[in-house]
Amino acid sequence: MVGTANNARIRQAFSVVNGIQDLGLSSNPASNAGSECGTIEFTREDVEALLSEKMRYKNKFNYKERCENMMDYIKRLRLCIKWFQELEGDYAFEHERLRNALELSEQKCAEMELALRNKEEELNLIIVELRKSFASLQEKLAKEESDKLAALDSLAREKETRLNMERSHASLSEDLGKAQEELQSANQRIASINDMYKLLQEYNSSLQHYNTKLQKDIDAAHESIKRGEKEKSAIVENLSTLRGQYKSLQEQLSTYKASQDEAMRQKDALVHEVASMRVELQQVRDDRDHQLSQVQALTAEVIKYKELAVSSEDLEARCASQSNQIRSLSDQLAAAEEKLQVSDLSALETKTEFEGQKKLINELRNHLEDAEYKLIEGEKLRKRLHNTILELKGNIRVFCRVRPLLPDDSSGSEGKLISYPTTTEALGRGIDITQNGQKHSFSFDRVFMPDESQEDVFVEISQLVQSALDGYKVCIFAYGQTGSGKTYTMMGKPGHPDLKGLIPRSLEQIFQTRQSLLSQGWKYEMQVSMLEIYNETIRDLLSTNRDASRLENACNGKQYAIKHDANGNTHVTDLTVVDVCSTKEVSYLLDRAAHSRSVGKTQMNEQSSRSHFVFTLRISGLNESTEQQVQGILNLIDLAGSERLSKSGSTGDRLKETQAINKSLSSLSDVIFALAKKEKKEDHVPFRNSKLTYLLQPCLGGDSKTLMFVNISPEASSVGESLCSLRFAARVNACEIGTPRRQTSMRSSESRLSLG
Ligand code: ADP
Ligand code: MG
Repeated sequence: MVGTANNARIRQAFSVVNGIQDLGLSSNPASNAGSECGTIEFTREDVEALLSEKMRYKNKFNYKERCENMMDYIKRLRLCIKWFQELEGDYAFEHERLRNALELSEQKCAEMELALRNKEEELNLIIVELRKSFASLQEKLAKEESDKLAALDSLAREKETRLNMERSHASLSEDLGKAQEELQSANQRIASINDMYKLLQEYNSSLQHYNTKLQKDIDAAHESIKRGEKEKSAIVENLSTLRGQYKSLQEQLSTYKASQDEAMRQKDALVHEVASMRVELQQVRDDRDHQLSQVQALTAEVIKYKELAVSSEDLEARCASQSNQIRSLSDQLAAAEEKLQVSDLSALETKTEFEGQKKLINELRNHLEDAEYKLIEGEKLRKRLHNTILELKGNIRVFCRVRPLLPDDSSGSEGKLISYPTTTEALGRGIDITQNGQKHSFSFDRVFMPDESQEDVFVEISQLVQSALDGYKVCIFAYGQTGSGKTYTMMGKPGHPDLKGLIPRSLEQIFQTRQSLLSQGWKYEMQVSMLEIYNETIRDLLSTNRDASRLENACNGKQYAIKHDANGNTHVTDLTVVDVCSTKEVSYLLDRAAHSRSVGKTQMNEQSSRSHFVFTLRISGLNESTEQQVQGILNLIDLAGSERLSKSGSTGDRLKETQAINKSLSSLSDVIFALAKKEKKEDHVPFRNSKLTYLLQPCLGGDSKTLMFVNISPEASSVGESLCSLRFAARVNACEIGTPRRQTSMRSSESRLSLG
């Protein structure tokens, strides 16, 4: 066996050189061994076989054959050696190549190492930077995180607001629906208005003409207002001087009276004295006569008894003394008579003086009466001018009335809570109210103090009532908390005819004026209706409930629907409307309504103070001689109590009531404020938001005369409510809703309207 290590090496070398071909060689041993080809390859077995080959000869001495075999063997050996040599060269070359490759790769390695080191340094730097940036990023992250939290927070909030928005959006779209409905009705109205517009255009030119005339009239009115103001101030001045004069004269008069009294007293005393003196004198005279007769008797006696000298002398002396006495007495009498004469004279003097004074007083009285008459006339003129100014301004007028303290009222420090400024410009127009020590001042067109009577109040509104006869739409409201005197102001005190309120007084005046206008050719027809709005439901106060169609409509829910026609007239279906032509009839109807209301009161928990009472008088007048027609409306409204009920206590029906009142009162103020704000006619006024405002729509617009009474209770516990009422009234007072217009027309063209 050949050493395995060597064989293995060779084998390895062969394999390296021959690669896969040694397999072929091993399967094919020595098949190619003898071939000439230089690329013959040898396996270990081949080499071993070659080396261990033994020459066997049949003839040991057949050298030729041996030589030939040897030659072949040598040839094969040579081939083998050559193959080995080639292999060795290949090896050396391979070795060289590998070394070169090794060196190259070593160099590369070193370079690589260097590069790696550089890279590492670079990377280290980068790492440091990255660390730094990591830290800053972490910081940023923290910040971002906090930002994110905040953002989440705000997102939540936004979500909430979005929800709210959605909710409000829903309510708005509801409103939009309502508005669209209104728009539809408005469109219908626009159509009718367009028709009217066409008609109106025909009159436009004539109206313009009329307008210029009116403008002139206004100018004239302005001038007359100015003149009136001047006259007024002159009158007021005159009056004040007259008052001064009057006062001084009165003082003089009183001193004169005193002196006259004194003189009279003196005279009386003197007369008394004279009488007593006369009596004395008479006595003295009687005495004297008596004495004289005595003297005569005595002289007769003297003659008779001349001889009785002693007694005669005595008697003479007595007689002399008596004559002396008589003389002194007659002297006294003369003096007394003189005195009497003097006192008579002085009495006469005082009498004439007294008469003179009396005459002077009478003169002054006449003068004063004259001045007072002038003053009243001036005041009337002032009122008329004031009304004209207000009408021209278009403001809603507000009167404030403070009721007196009633015996049932809780007494306390009242009186001081409400006061009335006394400066000339605020007199009768200003009111101050104190709450928690703070004074709030208000001023209205008129402030009625507690002691002013129903008549005083009516005088101030009589002009306004009068204008309903001239074709104006008139609205008078009473606003205030329950118990502040609204019903007292409007209706009066039941069972006290002298304390009757504005409604009966207005009707009396209207019927009186109607009578006096008869002579001018005016004939009026009047219709009364009275209703109550409770919880947004209309109740007919004059209903007798016997009407069949009424009952039918009530079943259909069509009862008491409010409708406005194109001429601005309002109609309430099934409402009882009664023609009236005397005060008696109206007071009967008022009684009926009051009864109907009070029935409601017991049934429905003091409903009357929780409902609005609306009295409506429709007036239509026709002048037969001028063919002129007028249509006026007088609305007198006793509103529901404006107090805010304590929220905690309101539940069930009470809550519903309160909500209905709040809604309708706030709709009323909304309408008033919207009318005041309205610049264009098309601007929306929310008349439809409550029955009350929808009912009064034609009477609340710019062409009506509106007056609001704000009733105030003087109780200390009502100060808060009073302040609320006064604030509301002040806002209403500041509203301008436009210029009132009359509704008149000519009979020949009934369908047309002439506004003027
Ligand atoms: P309201 O209608 O506002 O609830 P009322 O008119 O019923 O108030 O008045 C409450 C009470 O005060 C009634 O007894 C009424 O007679 C009385 N009263 C109101 N105003 C006056 C006044 N000016 N003078 C006298 N009493 C009045
Ligand atoms: Mg009342």
